[in-house]
Amino acid sequence: MVYKSKLPSIEEPKTGIIQFIFSNKNKTPEDKPLLIDALDNRSITYAQLKDSVLRFGAGLQDVCGFKTDDVLALYAPNQYNYSIPLLGSLVANGATTTANPNYNLEELSHQLETTKARVLICHEENVKTALAAASRVGIQLKNIFVFGDKVIQGIQPFETALIRTRKAFPDELTHQQAKEKVAYLCFSSGTTGKSKGVMTTHANITSNTVQYTSLDDAFIDKNVDRMIGVLPLFHIFGLTAILHTALYWGLPVYILPRFDLVKFCETVQNHKISFAPLVPPIYLLLAKHDLISKYDLSSLKIGISGAAPLSADLSRAVKARLPHFIIKQGYGLTETSPSAIVEPTDRTIDGSTGILLANMLAKIVDDQGNEVAQGERGELWLKGPNIMKGYINNPEATADCIDSEGYFHTGDVALVDKDEHFYIVDRIKELIKYKGFQVPPAELEGILLTSPIIADCAVIGIYDSSQATELPRAYVTLKGNIQPSDEVGKQIMKFVADQVTPYKQIRSVRFIDVIPKSPAGKILRRVLRDAALEEEKKE
Ligand code: AMP
Repeated sequence: MVYKSKLPSIEEPKTGIIQFIFSNKNKTPEDKPLLIDALDNRSITYAQLKDSVLRFGAGLQDVCGFKTDDVLALYAPNQYNYSIPLLGSLVANGATTTANPNYNLEELSHQLETTKARVLICHEENVKTALAAASRVGIQLKNIFVFGDKVIQGIQPFETALIRTRKAFPDELTHQQAKEKVAYLCFSSGTTGKSKGVMTTHANITSNTVQYTSLDDAFIDKNVDRMIGVLPLFHIFGLTAILHTALYWGLPVYILPRFDLVKFCETVQNHKISFAPLVPPIYLLLAKHDLISKYDLSSLKIGISGAAPLSADLSRAVKARLPHFIIKQGYGLTETSPSAIVEPTDRTIDGSTGILLANMLAKIVDDQGNEVAQGERGELWLKGPNIMKGYINNPEATADCIDSEGYFHTGDVALVDKDEHFYIVDRIKELIKYKGFQVPPAELEGILLTSPIIADCAVIGIYDSSQATELPRAYVTLKGNIQPSDEVGKQIMKFVADQVTPYKQIRSVRFIDVIPKSPAGKILRRVLRDAALEEEKKE
């Protein structure tokens, strides 16, 4: 059967993102600080944001020669003024790609190359890598800028260099154009292979903002509630569920550069944070860490958990410790902009990811693509205004996951109960998620195969409940004369660690004689997962 959202339909916004944000639907006072640096209280009001993004758009055109459909790349940890270049590029009729600030030269170059970025804004922590990647892909030195107020290695701060005396205004988009025009290019490996640029359109973002916020409108007090922005803004969860949601509702968002338990607790306590989009490993700390009882976290009202599974046990453990805090799960993907299924705030069920958001359809299918009976497991397919346009310059990968009826094949296994609450129970795609970050096995396998001692390999994720995350494990077949040992395992882990950003590191190695493969040569990951479960049972 086809599941149709039971929520009242929303009217899909018909304009581009800039017109949508500044139409001020929720009547936010112009002088209300919305984007706040949680560490030093610098802030940007609603009116200042509008002024800055229009001037930044002009700066891009005047200084960088930025044209319609050009791409600006952001390569920085969370900043209170991240939204200025993020949105400023849309003002100049371009798109923005957001990169993990810890990416190494290879990873960043891949993203810049794939998106053909013309402008790059980095952070003082990663200027060296930014410069090397820019030179590799041909971004002009004059088009590289840095966050902050200091000139770093000759690179100008973006605010002093690009905020102009003139304002630019984006082209007015029709609804059809808003559905076509790409706004953001976040990266995801999808169901298979390496990281790909996800083309998220203006209409994807505006629709998902309304789909997601309409579920909680009745539970939010726009004059009182405050949000924490600790999840990475380069990821679609941070981009939409934090930035766009805060700007739409007009809620102040207290932005932290990265997660640190003390800073997190201080921010919640000092600024009376009530709305908190977080990920399971942070909920684990809220449930278990001694420090939590030293702070007054009583302002926390609604917590969303996304990007990875939140077990029923963990959700109960947090509720037992912070009974005033309603924790609800959301499910989505970069490809669904991201929210697709979210728990209703007044009817949360521990372990469920919730109900289909407004204007969405879903199917649960078997491996032949036939719909299974309600209550049975199958792959989750989704359709709605928030499904991406496709992967940039990759029509094959797009055709592999969006079918002729417009359903996006998630690669996740789900079941639906009689009240149409969805449960994500497994994953058939290759993807590993480490603390909410994507780790594409194909990328690690590619690196492992360049090792002179490895004949063949496969990488899978092993769930570790003590950290509430999956950990990447390599199964390795060694070349003839090499004997397996702990030392060789460590050597292999170091070999990979030297070449990837820290969250992609391999955390354990197993040696096997042959990597199980199908006759077509596809790695049989299920066989390895079963072997891992057997091993766990024996321990
Ligand atoms: P990303 O594109 O990085 O957001 O990753 C999307 C993937 O994260 C999904 O396909 C799922 O495998 C996983 N995921 C996201 N949210 C949840 C959730 N609530 N429960 C289980 N898995 C999730």
